[in-house]
Amino acid sequence: MWQANNLNPQPTPPKIIWSGGDQIRSKCVIGLDRDGVINRDLGTYCFSPATFDPIPGSIEAIAELRRKGYKIVIITDQGGIEKGLYTQEDVDLTHDYMFRLLGEAGCTSIDGIYYSASSRKEDIYAKPNTGMFKKCEKEVPGIRFKEGYYVGDKIKDLKAAMNIGARPVLVRTGYGVETEKELNKWTYRKVKQRTIIFDNLAEFVESLA
Ligand SMILES: [Mg+2]
Repeated sequence: MWQANNLNPQPTPPKIIWSGGDQIRSKCVIGLDRDGVINRDLGTYCFSPATFDPIPGSIEAIAELRRKGYKIVIITDQGGIEKGLYTQEDVDLTHDYMFRLLGEAGCTSIDGIYYSASSRKEDIYAKPNTGMFKKCEKEVPGIRFKEGYYVGDKIKDLKAAMNIGARPVLVRTGYGVETEKELNKWTYRKVKQRTIIFDNLAEFVESLA
């Protein structure tokens, strides 16, 4: 799995997943935060299949995105790694489980998944910084976030989207309801102006052509 962080200078090659072989006409990229968008964010860390609890409809929504021909990249901060709460292997196993669920829903590939091992705001790879997004654009053919969307549930997700030039999408799952209130602060007026808001990932996907 890709490790978008210099803790591991020689990341293992990706087990995934290039869209090149798919018989689909590709549209823009949809970037997805993980916790609170795909799986429930219970305020604790999710680092095992047992704690990966999909938000109802989210797995099917990703499959639907694929069917509609969008590129899909998951970009997530996994700060628990740096804190020593779990390891990269735990994250990879959790993602293997998520991929199994996606496969069962008919989504047999995505274009990439990137996680940073820290959530420190001075880490260029952690959101709202754009290190993971830039690395993805460099490594995955045809990904241009300026033409796409990034879906998240926290302010740092919306800011990361703004920073990379993607359209920010807020979902009211995870911390989304709190974030929607926070968006009313004067500091976030520009982010609020750009952000489109949906109840959940499924509703966003439904809105796309
Ligand atoms: Mg989140």
